[in-house]
Amino acid sequence: MIKKNIAIIGGGPSALIAADILSKQNSVTIYEKNKAVGSKFLIAGKGGFNLTNSLAGIELANKYTPKEFMKDAILAFDSKALREWFSEIGIETFVGTSGRVFPKKGIKPAEVLNAIKNKLNSQNVKFEYESEFVGFDENQCIKMNFNGKLKTLLADNYIFALGGASWSITGSDGKWKKYFEEIGVNTIPFESSNCGVNINWESHIIKNHSGKPLKNISVSVGGTVNKGEAVITEYGLEGNVIYPLIPEVRKLLKNCGKANIIIDFKPENTIADLLKKVGSKSVSSKDYGKIFNLKREQLALIKSYSTKEEYLSSHSFIKKIKGLEIKVESLRDIEESISTIGGIDVEELNQNFSLKKYPKIYCIGEMINWDAPTGGFLLQGAFSMGYYSAKSIVLRKNIPY
Ligand SMILES: Cc1cc2nc3c(=O)[nH]c(=O)nc-3n(C[C@H](O)[C@H](O)[C@H](O)COP(=O)(O)OP(=O)(O)OC[C@H]3O[C@@H](n4cnc5c(N)ncnc54)[C@H](O)[C@@H]3O)c2cc1C
Repeated sequence: MIKKNIAIIGGGPSALIAADILSKQNSVTIYEKNKAVGSKFLIAGKGGFNLTNSLAGIELANKYTPKEFMKDAILAFDSKALREWFSEIGIETFVGTSGRVFPKKGIKPAEVLNAIKNKLNSQNVKFEYESEFVGFDENQCIKMNFNGKLKTLLADNYIFALGGASWSITGSDGKWKKYFEEIGVNTIPFESSNCGVNINWESHIIKNHSGKPLKNISVSVGGTVNKGEAVITEYGLEGNVIYPLIPEVRKLLKNCGKANIIIDFKPENTIADLLKKVGSKSVSSKDYGKIFNLKREQLALIKSYSTKEEYLSSHSFIKKIKGLEIKVESLRDIEESISTIGGIDVEELNQNFSLKKYPKIYCIGEMINWDAPTGGFLLQGAFSMGYYSAKSIVLRKNIPY
């Protein structure tokens, strides 16, 4: 089979796995505008570093929106396949809390990235650093800025893997969006996903309670409920219980101009359970902490969102414990979000992630308008898309799963 020249532009996880699959039979070059690949991957490593999730197959695919768009790629290369791939390059993984998959204890993020890079080096993948994609020329050829020199990039296939628009310090700044619009590829504005929410706290909440966790709570919005932990911040709330609710909050803010989240501080107890703790005796609000096992910050939040009468009546206080309604002003800024939605419109892509208008060009990873919650689903999505697009080029057709 004749070797193809493949140009991969952008050096995030979706690009790296595509390079691995393709370089077994083809000549592959990764063009990255930074001096190194995988900057956002390493940033992810500083936090939880969920490489994927223990959900597999269709259960995993169900986590993505739009589901149908991501399904084939996820089913073709799911969490089991990704963990095997890591294992083959010497990175063992384990399933931690809530199904999140991490590198085995002691393995640092840089070691994971190096293991991938070593594999690519052994398969002769070329890395061109300080090589920035700066648009398309009048013939829709790709223009690159190679360390100050403008050149046209020529290859048999091109894979763009330019990332989303958050944490621009990592190189994923979304500036490429306008170049695709210029060649008639529809794009969607970037918006924050997996981010915190802005709330107008009373000043004493900010002063006395920012930084404090709200553990084992459940939060609901518009019928979507999620259990986990949030952190009170100066601007509002952040954390794993909030992130999966962001699509619903975003929708409400857009469609209704407002969104309220409802916190249940005692999801394991019913109102009847809590009423039993009080019994028929009259209790002082000073004892609420002890009676209901609530921390100072929880009491402060409930007080802040109650009238005096509501707070002093143990019955209405219990209702607040089970459903404290808090107004969300807006989502946090794109720059600090864990991920973004927006970018290339999924309608512009074939099932194998090639552009309908330019079938030699593939677009993968977070630069496409798909969404998933935290918990390993973002990296899994990027890896699956890289695998699937690469397999499609190798097999020269769409692949079944
Ligand atoms: C703080 C944080 C924590 C995270 N934690 C997790 C986690 O634990 N689990 C998880 O699943 N996900 C996590 N993520 C999300 C995950 O890191 C991303 O979804 C993933 O890196 C996206 O991969 P990608 O290949 O699409 O793009 P990216 O990793 O964003 O890579 C894109 C690359 O393209 C390059 N590039 C951009 N423009 C150009 C251009 N014009 N020319 C050339 N190169 C260009 C960039 O420099 C960059 O190297 C986290 C993200 C953040 C910010």
